[in-house]
Amino acid sequence: KKGVTVEAKGAKLHAKYRDPKQPIDVRIQDLLGKMTLEEKVGQMAQLERQNLTADIIKNYFIGSILSGGGSSPKKNANVEDWVDMVNNFQNAALLTRLGIPMIYGIDAVHGHNNVVNATIFPHNVGLGVTRDPLLVKKIGAATALEVRATGIPYAFAPCIAICRDPRWGRCYESYSEDHVIVQEMTQIIEGLQGEVKTDMKGMPYVLGKKKVAACAKHYVGDGGTVKGINENNTIVDQAGLFGTHMPAYLNSLAKGVATIMASYSSINGVKMHANRDLLTGFLKEKLGFKGFIISDWEGIDRITYPPHSNYTYSIQASILAGVDMVMIPYNYTEFINGLIDLVKKNVIPMSRIDDAVTRILRVKFATGLFENPLVDYSLINKVGCMKHRTLAREAVRKSLVLLKNGKPGKPPVLPLPKNANKILVAGTHSHNLGYQCGGWTIEWQGVSGNNWTAAGTTILNAIKATVDKSTQVTYRKNPGKNFFKKNNFDYAIVVVGEVPYAETRGDSQNLTIPDPGPNIIQNACKAIKCVVVLISGRPVVIEPYLDTMDALVAAWLPGSEGQGVSDVLFGDYGFTGKLARTWFKRPDQLPMNHGDPNYDPLFPFGFGLETKPTTQHNKRIEL
Ligand code: BGC
Repeated sequence: KKGVTVEAKGAKLHAKYRDPKQPIDVRIQDLLGKMTLEEKVGQMAQLERQNLTADIIKNYFIGSILSGGGSSPKKNANVEDWVDMVNNFQNAALLTRLGIPMIYGIDAVHGHNNVVNATIFPHNVGLGVTRDPLLVKKIGAATALEVRATGIPYAFAPCIAICRDPRWGRCYESYSEDHVIVQEMTQIIEGLQGEVKTDMKGMPYVLGKKKVAACAKHYVGDGGTVKGINENNTIVDQAGLFGTHMPAYLNSLAKGVATIMASYSSINGVKMHANRDLLTGFLKEKLGFKGFIISDWEGIDRITYPPHSNYTYSIQASILAGVDMVMIPYNYTEFINGLIDLVKKNVIPMSRIDDAVTRILRVKFATGLFENPLVDYSLINKVGCMKHRTLAREAVRKSLVLLKNGKPGKPPVLPLPKNANKILVAGTHSHNLGYQCGGWTIEWQGVSGNNWTAAGTTILNAIKATVDKSTQVTYRKNPGKNFFKKNNFDYAIVVVGEVPYAETRGDSQNLTIPDPGPNIIQNACKAIKCVVVLISGRPVVIEPYLDTMDALVAAWLPGSEGQGVSDVLFGDYGFTGKLARTWFKRPDQLPMNHGDPNYDPLFPFGFGLETKPTTQHNKRIEL
């Protein structure tokens, strides 16, 4: 055995694929020529980190590993824990015969959101409001640095869904109902990956050590499913498919996106994971996409119903359709042996396997993994650094939409003065970072209890830091009617909204604000001049309470930097955000998007009141 290793090492050292001076295509061809079928198929497998051992990686030549739903190495794992985990897996991959590094992927969808103390940016629903692609590009660059700091070179982002129905539990992962806004926001890919430096049609040559491979997802039409039901069927004609859901993919390709994830959903009844026309025919053959197509988590299993009922067929249909890497949390031996078998039986041609592996290796060479497979420790202090938090705070400010400012015939309420005597800050969401961040944060479903351990500023603490020292700020999470009878305030800031959710668990047909939110709004607004700040991943039912409010701010899911909310409430900056979604009156109107006939929204797409800053720049409170 020892001899084999030495021999292999020698081979590795002198092989062309090891030589960074060789063009990537030469390196790929050289390496591909040395690989066995088993080694090739292993490259196409992406396994979940849990229960994964070094032996599995070595024995099956596993090409990729993921944190499914962001799963972390342990509870409250810090940066060092992540680095250790990724390095350990990588060291196992490097011990395989050809020493091909594995590529680790993670859902870094609003910053490096699984890592304690990382900077958590607003979710995409808020970023669409900013209409600021350059800001979003900077967020991409900051995210890439924080992700790479943990040794991870691959982010399953951006989600470029065009969410056409807010009943969808992933609405907040979508920048807008409008494809033009989403197209503009694909600039985040340049932030994540760097700018395309060659004409490799959809794949930059070198991403660099501070960049990550991006993943445009979920291809295609994920945001158009019937009734907004997750993973459902999207019924769409050619104009809807190529005019609404597809354009952002063309922008992503132009920016060199390294990977594209297939959607669980179907187009007109055809499961995307088995859609050869749209995966191979359109993306690869027509558009010349050079990166790899990755399946979604158990996505190939769901080609059949019930899921996994004919796995051999699932493997065959997905790989022949053009899926290059398969995200397989549980059945890796079944997948690997099944695929090898299908190749041996000539059901899947070797050329298809070679194409898939070529694409995967291309991304691995481009991310510099062969030269720098292990973490670059010099980046560690980037995680949650002040520069990134300041950027997140700016994004929060620009993501706010002012929906109401003053009752009819009354003067505007916002911006608020910093020198009031007594302010009440009330509501379930005013002092809760988990709620502020929403799903895909620390946990897949987000943090709902009081067990948030990471850094950040709640809206309550931000308000306290903003107002004058003489101002008395009282906080009540859930004040009852009697509380208002006994106490007087100059005004109340009520922060309520949705509680975190992700994917199907967020699907909602009624879109109401959960209790006790509506009661708090009504009690506070009846008693005091009242500004309502809504924390939600989408428009929710608000019309019944609107008249009682003096002001209403949609803050979406702002992330860790609550100070951005307070900056604008108190006039250090003005409100500038414009709705990137239609705000419905009643859910029975849905789906309803701008441009529809009979458009009758509560607040139309593009709506947003503005205020002027009242504070001199040099007096603004900085973090
Ligand atoms: C989601 C993807 C995600 C993947 C890995 C899936 O359930 O649909 O968006 O990238 O899980 O966590």
